Amino acid sequence: MYHYIREGDEAYPWFRYLHIEDFKKQVSYFKHHYNFISKSEFFNSIEQKEPVEDAAILTFDDGLIDHFEAAEYLAAEGLWGIFYIPTGPYQTQKLLDVHRIHVLIGKYGGQEILLTLEKTLRESYIQNEYVDKFEKVTYARQDNDAATKQVKQILNYFLDYQQKDDVLDVLMQKYFPDEALLCKDFYLSPTQIKSMNNMGMVIGAHSVTHPVFSRLDYATQNNEIMNCFKLLDDFVPSNSIKTFCYPYGGDHSFNEDTLMILEKENVDFSFSVEQRDINAHDLIHKKQALPRYDCNQFPFGQASMGLKRAEMMANS
Ligand SMILES: [Zn+2]
Repeated sequence: MYHYIREGDEAYPWFRYLHIEDFKKQVSYFKHHYNFISKSEFFNSIEQKEPVEDAAILTFDDGLIDHFEAAEYLAAEGLWGIFYIPTGPYQTQKLLDVHRIHVLIGKYGGQEILLTLEKTLRESYIQNEYVDKFEKVTYARQDNDAATKQVKQILNYFLDYQQKDDVLDVLMQKYFPDEALLCKDFYLSPTQIKSMNNMGMVIGAHSVTHPVFSRLDYATQNNEIMNCFKLLDDFVPSNSIKTFCYPYGGDHSFNEDTLMILEKENVDFSFSVEQRDINAHDLIHKKQALPRYDCNQFPFGQASMGLKRAEMMANS
């Protein structure tokens, strides 16, 4: 599983990403140590419910613009990958929450964002109980990593979805006033997605708004899945495989309702995140929650850090 794959950008001194050169080194490492199976071998193994020894396939989450170059590289190497696209940004011209947090912290650092977040919470309608909770955990402002952790904690656990959206709207207004333009530079365009499919890449669904599915009721989960597939069908009518992957991943990120919807929709297979190989049992009983490793579990997969962050680590 891959996310950001890019070169460093001075404008984002705190951003964490896999350097494109490390990605290429890792692909060649996999080529030497594993069996990169073809699309048809993989689909066959899913259908026959028989794992292939030492097999490897690559997946890419979040529809990031980075993935166009990655796809071109794979195609040149005679390889393929599955690219899981969240469709919300194509309708709202806004970044997903998870990416808004990455760009805010990546460009301005955790301390700056924490201070603004604190001010926003005080000035906005979000009062008392959240601010109380918030104050109890406000500490270690000297440490940028601690501040980053705290920003994520507040946004992800202290606020409900609507409040989180509102607060992120305020932060984005201040730091990235032209979010529609940022969005265009951040995600794959529909044309790029189509051209990746023509290169032999598989296009999969990754929900509309990238929520934690287990926190949603059946109807909302159903909409998230159906509407994502629907828009991707418009983008890439020729994409014949129906595959999905859970935002965030892990057993806690989905529930029985999610599995029912995927089965009802005849989804061929789905990926979760669980650091182990796919075995025969998975192919028979867990086709809609196949395990998957993060690229950082393998050589060359460690994240590169923005310049500021690297400096800070060197000095500490
Ligand atoms: Zn994701």
